[in-house]
Amino acid sequence: MIIAITNQKGGVGKTTTSVNVASAIALMGKKVLLLDMDPQAHSTISTVTNPEKYEKSLYDVLMTKTERLEDIIVRSNIPGLDMAITKISMAKLEPSLAGEFDGHFRLKDALEQLRGKYQYIFIDTPPTLGLITLNALVAANYILIPIQSSYLCLEGTDDLLETIEKVKRIANPNLKVLGVLITLFDKRTNLARDVVERIRKVFGAKVFKTFISKSVKLEESPAYKESIFTYAPNSIGAEQYQKVAEEIMHRAKN
Ligand code: ADP
Ligand code: MG
Repeated sequence: MIIAITNQKGGVGKTTTSVNVASAIALMGKKVLLLDMDPQAHSTISTVTNPEKYEKSLYDVLMTKTERLEDIIVRSNIPGLDMAITKISMAKLEPSLAGEFDGHFRLKDALEQLRGKYQYIFIDTPPTLGLITLNALVAANYILIPIQSSYLCLEGTDDLLETIEKVKRIANPNLKVLGVLITLFDKRTNLARDVVERIRKVFGAKVFKTFISKSVKLEESPAYKESIFTYAPNSIGAEQYQKVAEEIMHRAKN
């Protein structure tokens, strides 16, 4: 099961969702890999100690077919969670692969090497709809779309849905939207409730029942290279991400 966590907007909770959902499912005893496709490497930095000590990263695997994906997978600091690490070098991927006929298929091909090794592979993606994100969507079974509960939250949704349709047509007909996750929700505001209604109008039953509230603990945990489940196990963020993980496992039946 390969799940890309994608929205071309930055700051909507892609990385927070990737790390915490992957952690929750790993804690439930499943074999889980988190693959960091964002050149900013936030999910690598927030789960792995001194990632710069590793010579190779995902960029090398995607550029050079003789490099093995297994060789850039490390144990993260998060119990049970393996990380395919990324460094800033990933920023070179798009210019390097431009014009390569199989540029969109590099991640899918590399993941073939892992066949059967993981029950869940999550892909954290950058805030663009460029070649890196296309690699993720071509490789994935499902896309999970985090949407920040804010006034302009649906701006850009059309482009994202169009990209999904294009990927389905050209390269990955079985790609499905697993769900839309409302993040950074602040229940005290009327606006937030209005925003939820608007998101539901567009995505209907695809919207996860659980919302992720704004919470300081969720913001703090990456600095300690922890998931919310060890950093603040009794927090609202831990409870909500646990529920989202359960919804994901229920929807993404093997
Ligand atoms: P993206 O990967 O989409 O850019 P992030 O997950 O990095 O988004 O989140 C953007 C910022 O918001 C980060 O500083 C993160 O710690 C913070 N953040 C994410 N989710 C929450 C939340 N539910 N409550 C508070 N802060 C959050
Ligand atoms: Mg991110």
